[in-house]
Amino acid sequence: MSRAQILDGKACAKEVRSKVASAVAMIKGQHGVTPGLAVVLVGADPASEVYVKNKGKQTLAAGMASFEHRLPAETVEADLLVLIEQLNQDKAVHGILVQLPVPAHIDEAKIINAIDPAKDVDGFHVINAGMLATGQDGLVPCTPVGCVILAKQAMSDLSGLEAVVIGRSNIVGKPVAQLLLRENCTVTIAHSRTKNLKDVVARADLVVAAVGQQELVRADWIKPGAIVIDVGIHRLTLDGGGTKLVGDVAFDEVAEVAGAITPVPGGVGPMTIACLLRSTVLACCRAHGIVAPDL
Ligand code: NDP
Repeated sequence: MSRAQILDGKACAKEVRSKVASAVAMIKGQHGVTPGLAVVLVGADPASEVYVKNKGKQTLAAGMASFEHRLPAETVEADLLVLIEQLNQDKAVHGILVQLPVPAHIDEAKIINAIDPAKDVDGFHVINAGMLATGQDGLVPCTPVGCVILAKQAMSDLSGLEAVVIGRSNIVGKPVAQLLLRENCTVTIAHSRTKNLKDVVARADLVVAAVGQQELVRADWIKPGAIVIDVGIHRLTLDGGGTKLVGDVAFDEVAEVAGAITPVPGGVGPMTIACLLRSTVLACCRAHGIVAPDL
């Protein structure tokens, strides 16, 4: 039995989706607008196929319009740019997401930056990254938003906490750090060149692990009572032939020391799509001058 509070991402994501569905009903009923999300998948990466399918299902379940564009792996960059421009112009589409990674012959940054920033529900466009960094109201990457919502389940006011984010990617580490700064945490970003990582993490009241290294974070790295948010996802093949998902944190042992912890699976993972739907509703409200409900 772990001593830590388990931060249940499945339940939390359900709550976010339910608020989104109520907001969608209000927007449809009062303004005659249906929020719409377009997802573009290039190629047939099996993990991406699963994500895209789930996104479509959950978008429809929230009462929103879902537009899926599946393109062959050999699609040329110019054709993808044409599709993005069509979606930018399409009034029924409020959010556009290009499932990453795209095939190697396509310039990912060029594609992301071709999306209208007002429809960039992944929040990866350089304008949205800049808005987040300068404290303006843009669209924010979904997994980082999910991390902060979960951390706030453990402590509603994160102000003044010593936070350590392990990982500095543009899609998780940096935006999580920016959001925690916005929550008035004192933020350290650690990465592969950080010296004495264990000692840096041991200072933290709040740890976000977005490292991509299976069970790197151990119990003796964690300050007793700290909040631990595990973004990592690794699929292990078991001796018996089955598979098991683990994170960047050694859950069983860290749960003995932490005050609150997200499990893998069932922690950060389910929050990502829920936050994507939330961002699409916010983008729709902004596009139509509708006062956004509390999401
Ligand atoms: P990246 O590989 O882009 O970034 C990993 C970061 O961790 C880098 O900044 C890297 O440092 C740092 N790092 C790697 N090894 C070490 C180490 N030994 N010590 C300290 N820092 C290290 O990964 P992502 O940010 O894209 O994803 C991180 C994890 O989150 C992955 O497991 C991924 O699968 C998962 N993920 C989960 C999502 C979800 O919905 N739950 C969504 C997105 C990602 P440096 O910059 O120096 O190389």
